[in-house]
Amino acid sequence: MEATRANDTGQTVGGSLMERSNFASEIPIFEIPGGVHPEEHKTRSNQADIRTLSLPDELIINIKGQAGNRSIPVVEVGDTVLKGQMIAECDGIFSSYQHAPTSGTIVAIEDRTIAHPSGLSDQCIIIQPDGKDKWCQLTPVRDFDQLSREEMLATIFESGIVGLGGASFPAHIKLKRESGIHTLIINAAECEPYITCDDRLLREHSREVLKGAEVISKLYSDIDIVVGIEDNKPSAIDALVSARKELGFSNIKIAVVPTKYPSGGEKQLIQIITGKEVPHGKLPADLGLVMHNVGTCFAIYETFYLGKPLIQRLVTLTGDACKEPGNYWVPFGTPVSHIINQTHAESPKRIIMGGPMMGYELPSTEVGIVKATNCIIMSAEGELGFDNPTLPCIRCGACMDACPASLLPQQLYWHAQADEFDKAEEYDLFDCIECGACAYVCPSHIPLVQYYRYAKSSIKNNRIEKTKAEKARQRHEARQERLERVKREKAERHRKAAEARKKAAQKAGKKDEKKAAVQAALERVKAKKKAQENKDDNKPATGEEK
Ligand code: SF4
Ligand code: SF4
Repeated sequence: MEATRANDTGQTVGGSLMERSNFASEIPIFEIPGGVHPEEHKTRSNQADIRTLSLPDELIINIKGQAGNRSIPVVEVGDTVLKGQMIAECDGIFSSYQHAPTSGTIVAIEDRTIAHPSGLSDQCIIIQPDGKDKWCQLTPVRDFDQLSREEMLATIFESGIVGLGGASFPAHIKLKRESGIHTLIINAAECEPYITCDDRLLREHSREVLKGAEVISKLYSDIDIVVGIEDNKPSAIDALVSARKELGFSNIKIAVVPTKYPSGGEKQLIQIITGKEVPHGKLPADLGLVMHNVGTCFAIYETFYLGKPLIQRLVTLTGDACKEPGNYWVPFGTPVSHIINQTHAESPKRIIMGGPMMGYELPSTEVGIVKATNCIIMSAEGELGFDNPTLPCIRCGACMDACPASLLPQQLYWHAQADEFDKAEEYDLFDCIECGACAYVCPSHIPLVQYYRYAKSSIKNNRIEKTKAEKARQRHEARQERLERVKREKAERHRKAAEARKKAAQKAGKKDEKKAAVQAALERVKAKKKAQENKDDNKPATGEEK
C-alpha cells in the first residue's frame, strides 16, 4: 500500500515542510541506499499533548495480537477482573501474556473480526468495563540491580512486553543473547508519514524512556547506548538532551539522522548508525547490536518502576477525516469504531491501521487495537491516493533506485506476478522489508508490496504444505514399516513355534525309540529267562531223585 503517492514526475504532492533540528549528531552517520521523501503529514498530530479516550462499552482483546502463537485464556465467561490482571498466558516463548486493560467482567470468549487485512476472525476475550478502572496489586521492582539476568528477562516476559515499533516481537527474546553485545540502539527514527507517537512520547516522557533504556543496559556487562532519531523531531531531541543531563546518563549518545524513509527500519538504522549491513540471514545481535523502540523502553520502565504490565499503548489518531488528531493512550482491545466516535471523525473513506506506507486498510471498524497498532489513519476522500488506476510497468527502474535493501523490485514483481516463486527467492525476496518505497515512486501505481506479500505468503504456505506432506510421508512409511515388522515378527514367531513343535516331536520320537529299545531288551531278557527255564524243566532229575 502506498498512500502519499508521487505524482508522475516523482515529486511528492501536497503538505507542508517540517522544522528540522540543528542538533549535531554525536556519532558519525552513514548513508543508506535508496529511500524516499514522502510528504510527512506529521504536524497535524504532533502538536497537542498526549490525551486519553473514554473507555468503550467493550474491549475486544485479540489473543493472537502479537507475533508467535495465540495466548491461552486463563479466565472464563462471567469472571470479574481487575486492571492489570493476567487474562491469557503465553503459548511458547514467542507468544505473549495478555492482561486486562481495565477492571470489569469477561462477557465472552469468542471469534471476532481481528485487525488483519483479510478480515479474518479469531478468538478474542471480551471485557465489559465496570467503569471503576481499578488496578490489581502492582509489584514494582525498582531495585532491579538485585535481580539476576533471568529474573529481569522473566519480568519483561510476564509483563507481556513486545516490541512496540510495529513487529510485536517479544522483547525478552531480543534481549536473551548476552555475549558479544556491545551497543543498544534506541529506535526513535519514526520515519513513516503521519505517525508521531514516538515523537510525542519523547517530548513528554524522555526521562522514563531513558530509564527504561537503563534497565535494558543492566542486562549486559558493558554496553553503549545510542538513540537514533530523525532530524524532523527537534522538540523530542531537546527533551532527550535535557533528560539525559537531568538523569546523569552520560553514556547515552544521540545520533541525529537526516529525514528519509525508511531510516527507521531496523536494518536501515543500524546501517546509518554503524555503517555496517546486517548480512543476509543474520541478526543484529550477530553484529553485537540490540535495538528497541522508544515505546518498548517506556513499557519496560513502567514494568520495573511501577509494576505495570503492558495494557495500553500510545497511538497516533490522524487523517483528514479525524477532527481531533493527536496521540492518545489507547487500552488494548479498544474498538476502532469507538476511536472514530471519540475523535469525531467525519465519514472516513478508509481506515488504515499503521502508517500509509506499511499499514493496511481495516476491513471492519469493529476490531480491537493490538500491541502493534501505532497509528490509525481516518482518511478523507482522495487523501491516500488509492484511486489511481494501475498501469503496465514501463521498466523505468525508479523502484530499483528507491529500494533501501538494494533489491530489484521490478524483477520481484514480474516473478511474483507469474507465480515464479523460486526465481523471486533467487532475487532475495525475503530481504524485502515491505517498506513500500518502490510502490511509492512507481509512476504506474503498481501495488508492488502486495505482490511481494503474496509471494512471501505463498512460499511460506508451500513450505508448510511441503512440511505437512513430508510428515505425512514419514508417518505413512513408519506405518508401513511397523506393519512389515509386525508381519515379520509374526512369521518369526510361527517359524519358531513350528521349530519347537518339530523338536518336541523329534524329542518325543527319540524317547519312543529308547523306550522301544528298553522294551525290546526287557523282552529279550524275558525270553532268555523263559528259554532257560524250559531247558531246566527238560533236564533229567538229579541224585536224590534217583
Ligand atoms: S514497477 Fe513501476 S517503478 Fe518499477 S520499473 Fe515498473 S513502472 Fe517503473
Ligand atoms: S522491494 Fe521491498 S525493500 Fe525494496 S523498496 Fe520495495 S518494499 Fe522496500
